[in-house]
Amino acid sequence: MPRDSRYDILFEPIKIGPVTAKNRFFQVPHCNGMGHARPQSHAAMRGVKAEGGWAVVSTEEVEIHPTSDVAPFIEGRLWDDRDIPALELMTEAVHRHDALAAIELVHAGMNANNAYSREISIAPSHTANPASYMPVQARAMRKSDIRDFRRWHRNAALRARRAGFDIVYVYAGHGISLPMHFLQSRHNHRTDEYGGSLDNRVRLLRELIEDTKEAVGSDCAVAVRLAVDELLCAEGIQRDGEGREIVEMLAELPDLWDVNVSDWANDSKTSRFAQEGFQEDFVRFVKSVTTKPVVGVGRFTSPDTMVSQIRRGVLDFIGAARPSIADPFLPRKIETGDLDDIRECIGCNFCVSGDYTMSPIRCTQNPTLGEEWRKGWHPETVPPGSGSDTFLIVGAGPTGLECARILGQRGYSVHIAEAREQWGGRATREAALPGLASWIRVRDYRINQLRKMRNVEMLRGSRVTAGEMIEFGATRVVLATGARWRRDGVGRANAVPVQGFDAAADRVLTPDDLLDGLTARSPIVVFDDDHYYLGSVLSEKLRASGYDVTIVTPADRIAAWTVNTLEQHAIQRRLLELGVRLVMNQRVVKYEGDEVVMECMYTTRRSTTPASSVVTITSRLPNDELYEALEVQPEALSAAGIVSVSAIGDCLAPGTIAAAVYAGHRYAREFDLPEIDQVGFRREMPQ
Ligand code: ADP
Ligand code: SF4
Repeated sequence: MPRDSRYDILFEPIKIGPVTAKNRFFQVPHCNGMGHARPQSHAAMRGVKAEGGWAVVSTEEVEIHPTSDVAPFIEGRLWDDRDIPALELMTEAVHRHDALAAIELVHAGMNANNAYSREISIAPSHTANPASYMPVQARAMRKSDIRDFRRWHRNAALRARRAGFDIVYVYAGHGISLPMHFLQSRHNHRTDEYGGSLDNRVRLLRELIEDTKEAVGSDCAVAVRLAVDELLCAEGIQRDGEGREIVEMLAELPDLWDVNVSDWANDSKTSRFAQEGFQEDFVRFVKSVTTKPVVGVGRFTSPDTMVSQIRRGVLDFIGAARPSIADPFLPRKIETGDLDDIRECIGCNFCVSGDYTMSPIRCTQNPTLGEEWRKGWHPETVPPGSGSDTFLIVGAGPTGLECARILGQRGYSVHIAEAREQWGGRATREAALPGLASWIRVRDYRINQLRKMRNVEMLRGSRVTAGEMIEFGATRVVLATGARWRRDGVGRANAVPVQGFDAAADRVLTPDDLLDGLTARSPIVVFDDDHYYLGSVLSEKLRASGYDVTIVTPADRIAAWTVNTLEQHAIQRRLLELGVRLVMNQRVVKYEGDEVVMECMYTTRRSTTPASSVVTITSRLPNDELYEALEVQPEALSAAGIVSVSAIGDCLAPGTIAAAVYAGHRYAREFDLPEIDQVGFRREMPQ
């Protein structure tokens, strides 16, 4: 299909200093949990994005010196020449597809704990690291330290050029970089020419830009990443105050401005807390202050929004981290007019959890992410099927839909049956909850793809029985029937059922009950031993409907795991603002019909709170009854020509939606691989 001419503007080349980007799609720096530890995986992941049409593909933050060691987090590293070959893997992968490679040089200052290097952290002034509870402090930099730092940065820029990078970043973003700590008056208490007035606090950033330009500026573009607003009111940098003044002072010095809000949780807000393009109000001023190209982010997945940003003079480049993760081929699909093939980011931040858990990045929408090198998975292509198998997939949640999509793409004859009238399983049900509307994209992308496949038959409102499966005539049966929440309170804190939950079953509701429309009675206790999003989302919904809600959790904070998706602070704040009562460090041990008994996780001291109903969110059980029924009939299966019955996704082991999509994808790619007793993916072994 030819490209819609409305989008032509997105494909204009743009000059950035001495280099030219072939279009306006700019993959801004993003972490990925692979970095220096898994350079081949990292390079392959970036290479796929270049193949997908991004004109610029950036690294994550790249540590420039052992005093900037952010272990245990796994970022890029350019401490000395020995780090160059690993980064060359990336620049070669990016250049192969005619894209520019950018590197974000970072000194994390007081945010570097230096747990591996055991160096002492450095900062403008003596400071405890506000982002860590490590019992160490950063020491104030002397003038000689500032000279050293400038030299390290310059050397790193020279090495970056040798590694083949086209764009070199000076990084003053997210509140996690030394140049930004110098800008922040709350962290910079110096009395010399690097502290005090804004002119003085900007001095180091100016010098770094000048140093970098002087070192590599004839070949490489020099970009600055700056947080123009920290969303901290007067305590921080603000777009109408120092944020603007900094850009004005340095306006024409860099070749490119990459501007955003700080900290990372504000920059990468989930769809639960911000809409596409939400940073516009903060960064709009930048283009009026500089003639240099400006890149900004905002979880852009709609080409119309992108065009609007450019036509209205907000941005020159469409910056993206998450949209490029969910769909590395986003630019290519706009270019070829295949808009309904775009796999839109749902804004869940599961990708961020890779960085936070120091493991390779994973994405809810794109199961191939992080598997490009180690499994050879490509986001758009899949090897054709090799046999005459036919498939019956039971259940059309994230698992079943993704499985059908890939089997269909491989050319197999696929039948997918769903008991409900609606496709999408938990993705559809949960997308109806407050703030999760974008999650429906998990379903919509896959349904769109399946509808185009003539070899896929889709059956709605079809609850399949074991007998029907045997009679159906498929050679392989895939059970993707999902899971259900337990009603007995068993989970992490309670290994055995909660006393009284059974007797008061009509007052003890699960998330499934609420999603099915059952109503609770006020006051409600939500017992959240799941620690992810659901407890808080349901509490929010119940509170908004006027219920008196208390959320009880054994953790020391609400939705504790959402620290890994950058949401925990925003969630707890929202619940407090809504008037939900928060009870931490307590588990529910008993329900007596009108009150729950709670036990302190530390002292085991007991207390009670009124509860006319309880919503229990603790753990789930697989809906694997069909699997059990088929497993005991091997003769019937073989008489029917069924060669395999497999339970996958939540039906095998309840998990996240990302895990469900991955399970469906994996089955479809790997069901016909020989079973071997070896690790099923390539590994990067230390030399
Ligand atoms: P997953 O996350 O693994 O995809 P979900 O719970 O989201 O799991 O989806 C499972 C889907 O399977 C649900 O939509 C459910 O209605 C459907 N399902 C469960 N049992 C049957 C059955 N016997 N026949 C057809 N569909 C079923
Ligand atoms: Fe988007 Fe979620 Fe994928 Fe991250 S994990 S890129 S937020 S869909």
